[in-house]
Amino acid sequence: MPKPLHRGSRLVIASYNEGKVRELGELFAPLDINCLSAASLGLPEPDETGESFAENALIKAKAAAKGSGQLALSDDSGLEVAALGGEPGIHSARWGGPEKDFGQAMTRVNRELESSGAADRTANFTCALALAAPDGLAQVFEGKVFGTIVWPPRGARGFGYDPIFVPDGYTETFGEMDPKLKNQLSHRMRAFEQLMNALYVED
Ligand code: IMP
Repeated sequence: MPKPLHRGSRLVIASYNEGKVRELGELFAPLDINCLSAASLGLPEPDETGESFAENALIKAKAAAKGSGQLALSDDSGLEVAALGGEPGIHSARWGGPEKDFGQAMTRVNRELESSGAADRTANFTCALALAAPDGLAQVFEGKVFGTIVWPPRGARGFGYDPIFVPDGYTETFGEMDPKLKNQLSHRMRAFEQLMNALYVED
């Protein structure tokens, strides 16, 4: 894929998750890249039928690029808990149920960890960012951040599973941390850096 991103580019963000749209908007803002949300264009949400973060990210980005006729970026991400064999993983959003209740999803993570009897509370977030053009060309990049699951949840910043995840080398959860610091360490930032290295042209 030739480098399609530059200052002033317009990008459709193929996500209906407000937390992701906000964090991606913060990452792109200093580069003067204008982000529009798929919701504001009334684009439908495709079924996430892939078996990996990367496959699901490509499905969402390609659908939004085709539907809007513009460059589109998607984010497929989730929490992988080592002692749970990587679950909830690509099912992270589904563990919140139809109400997207992440209090319930975090309780399930803790309950399943306790009933597994495992002492290992290590986990990581993974983020796959895919960029797609209306002609169907697309590329995907993956970033991870490693840490530990804590209980009870702490902090009301961030979104999703942030209140139970402490990144390695820190004591605060992502839910307690200054969002600027989360944005410097996160799985999303790590995927973003690779995407920019590959697809952004400085002018
Ligand atoms: P999906 O990529 O839309 O299928 O959903 C990803 C789910 O993973 C979100 O609904 C969150 O629950 C969780 N998730 C992804 N990234 C983060 C993050 O940065 N913090 C906390 N939870 C996250």
